[in-house]
Amino acid sequence: MKVLALFYRGKGVTCPVCGKSFRKFLPYGRIKPRANALCPNCLSLERHRAIWLYLREKTPFFSQRLRVLHVAPEACFMKAFERQHGDDYITADIESPLAKVKMDIHAIPFGQDSFDVVLCNHVLEHVDDDLIAMKEIHRVLKPGGFAILLVPFFNPVPDKTFGDPAVTDPRERERMFGQDDHVRKFGKDYPDRIASVGFMPIQDTFVREMSNEQRKAYGLAADEIIFGGVKR
Ligand SMILES: [Zn+2]
Repeated sequence: MKVLALFYRGKGVTCPVCGKSFRKFLPYGRIKPRANALCPNCLSLERHRAIWLYLREKTPFFSQRLRVLHVAPEACFMKAFERQHGDDYITADIESPLAKVKMDIHAIPFGQDSFDVVLCNHVLEHVDDDLIAMKEIHRVLKPGGFAILLVPFFNPVPDKTFGDPAVTDPRERERMFGQDDHVRKFGKDYPDRIASVGFMPIQDTFVREMSNEQRKAYGLAADEIIFGGVKR
């Protein structure tokens, strides 16, 4: 990737996560690669850059030291988040050796009101029970704290979220839920699901409201919505 970073040297785009500029981002995607998607330096994708900008522009994440639980931590974020929050930045995962705490999201090993922020992106489509997981996230947040809870959506997005634990065949999962390791497909009711465990849901469309030029310069997807919730 370092060689590619050299090849892509330029000023056309800037990655807010690592601060580096390039001619453009790399294409990325399994079946139909998306143009201008992957940062050749820190490997951030569109959604990581959108989350970063959201945290920077709309929350105190980078202006205060906060107690943060980062579930299934994305590697591109870890160094900067640790620099910002020190020992109060806790990474957790069910298997990743990168994470400080090994945990099952259905039973988070922390007391209630423990964290200011929980980050849990592209996790809830894989877990046995997304509502129990969200309830647990809500429990460990302090009142006034927030969670970022991005999940993938596949077109056509169904009205109602559906899953079926009986479907275990990878090819059948891919067909029904969009990917071979997903156990549910999220629908337009996702904010209602977030609200159903007690959150005030976040559904922020700031990326859609940016100009085309701005989106291109940060390598963002117009349909990227920041989902999450605030604990009242
Ligand atoms: Zn980057």
